[in-house]
Amino acid sequence: MSSELRHAACDVLEYLKDMGIDHIPVRLSDIRRAVQPKASAPPPVPVVMNPVSPEKHDDKKTALMSLQKEIGDCMLCGLSDKRNNVVFGEGNPEARIMFIGEAPGREEDLQARPFVGEAGRQLTNLIGKILGLQREDVYIANICKCRPPENRDPVPGEIDACFPFINRQIRIIRPGIIIALGKIASYSLMKPDYPILKFSILRERGKLFYYEGAPVMPTTHPAYWLRNGKDKHKVVEDIRTALKKLTEDMQ
Ligand code: URA
Repeated sequence: MSSELRHAACDVLEYLKDMGIDHIPVRLSDIRRAVQPKASAPPPVPVVMNPVSPEKHDDKKTALMSLQKEIGDCMLCGLSDKRNNVVFGEGNPEARIMFIGEAPGREEDLQARPFVGEAGRQLTNLIGKILGLQREDVYIANICKCRPPENRDPVPGEIDACFPFINRQIRIIRPGIIIALGKIASYSLMKPDYPILKFSILRERGKLFYYEGAPVMPTTHPAYWLRNGKDKHKVVEDIRTALKKLTEDMQ
């Protein structure tokens, strides 16, 4: 079944659900046949890379490198005291899809790379299985570049100190879609006029908004997927909606 057909089928089912129809009699064997990909099936969703000239690629790459140099051994907030490394972010400077998390954890702090621990494995799996891409095809970064002690949430002062850096990464990369992973990333980009304590990612997930001209899809954090496997279909739903938006915007 092609991804277009699957999307269309989902749309019809959503529509029927809205109409109050919650039961459709089908044979299990038909469902199995429909959802099992054939050996030669194309990757899940064809995502076209940003078609720009090599010079332009160098521009973005160079701009990111000089931003990273500028951040250097940043000491703008107290997180610098205990960190091992600043975790700048990594990936394709031409990526159409940018993932933004909250802050490095233990493994990320040691390796100076985003999302390389347990949560990172979840994210890498999702990038492969749902997007049909490699990590190197997308760009991955965090709102805060340094690890908060004991993996606590970064506090507003730390977020504010670091936020200009993610803002500049977004402006350099100009992704076609941003996937905000979890409450801190979603709240920081959305900037609603109420305090973060009142922000619920479970309520806001799946609702597209804009930041710096780029559509942003707020969804749950990979660490949440680890603890709540049964909710994983909601992340997949959010990612598919995001891809649909990206594909529409590219037409
Ligand atoms: N959690 C995050 O938000 N970012 C990482 O890089 C790792 C874990």
